[in-house]
Amino acid sequence: MDEERIIDTRQALSDRDSEGSLRPKTLSEYVGQEHIKSNLNVYLSAAKMRGEALDHVLLYGPPGLGKTTLSYIIANELGVSVKFTSGPAIERAADLVAILTNLSENDVLFIDEIHRLNRTVEEILYPALEDYHVDIVIGKGPSARSMRLTLPPFTLIGATTRAGMLTGPLRDRFGIIQRLELYSPEELAIIVKRSAKILNIKIDPSAAALVAARSRGTPRIANRLLKRVRDFAIVERRETIDVKLADYALGLMEVDALGLDAIDRKILLTIVEKYNGGPVGVETLASSANEDSVTIEDAIEPFLLQLGFLARSPRGRVATLAAYKHLGIKPCTGSAAYQISMDDVNE
Ligand code: ADP
Repeated sequence: MDEERIIDTRQALSDRDSEGSLRPKTLSEYVGQEHIKSNLNVYLSAAKMRGEALDHVLLYGPPGLGKTTLSYIIANELGVSVKFTSGPAIERAADLVAILTNLSENDVLFIDEIHRLNRTVEEILYPALEDYHVDIVIGKGPSARSMRLTLPPFTLIGATTRAGMLTGPLRDRFGIIQRLELYSPEELAIIVKRSAKILNIKIDPSAAALVAARSRGTPRIANRLLKRVRDFAIVERRETIDVKLADYALGLMEVDALGLDAIDRKILLTIVEKYNGGPVGVETLASSANEDSVTIEDAIEPFLLQLGFLARSPRGRVATLAAYKHLGIKPCTGSAAYQISMDDVNE
């Protein structure tokens, strides 16, 4: 897939410059995720009152929901610094030791895609998390000796889209584990209006609601769609984005009323047309649709599952009746979609 998807949940190059300015800086500015916010409020206050580092936090959920933003906020609320890195970036144990020994007391270390840490690095992390020390081996062969380095107390915030891929011992070392949920259209509309204000764009409430409804429950997409719609407003010399302009712009971007784009439709059509509605394994689906399977699993499938357009069965993915309806195609009675819907009815 060469083209950049406007509704891709992952960070695109074009997001980098503006994401920083759009990030809320405090918990009260952070929209939605009420359950996480109320828990964090308690944990943050307790850590501040004890003057100790906050317990290690694991945040999981699809990309673009605000995991990185939350870790900035946690550090900000604690008044400490935060260092950012990611699982694949820490190649060797020495890289991690260098990061850990550079932390100051109660600092936050954010590791994105923590499920992609390699085993050797992960093993260095265990004592660091538990007792704030690392054991390093100096030299080689008979003269090698082990040395223990004491670390300042710190908080690890691990972020992952795949909590299931974390090893048991690593997961057990997080005292706070929180799952981020997709946002409601109402919450996304608040985010769109807030971002519009920061970007200095006027937007009608109905236009903000329209952008929100097509943002697949994801703030990153909401902000990106807003910026693209703004481009249309600039070219059309409009001062305010109204619902007509937003609808026109999103139509040209091929983002439909539910927030599906051409690639989502291609995946659904492949299942429907080539595999009679499924079940089809994700690898087979990926090669038929000319996408890679990780993209399907991380960036395309979660929203289709949430909409109830896709179902997972032990033998693979199945397009549901709702998906057929959205595509305007009639399923034949023998198809898995028909079966799934009849099962739903029978339950
Ligand atoms: P993740 O780390 O989960 O991929 P980010 O934290 O990078 O997601 O968030 C992506 C963008 O969405 C950020 O620019 C941020 O401004 C916006 N965002 C995320 N969550 C919220 C929220 N709860 N309220 C307002 N904006 C948010």
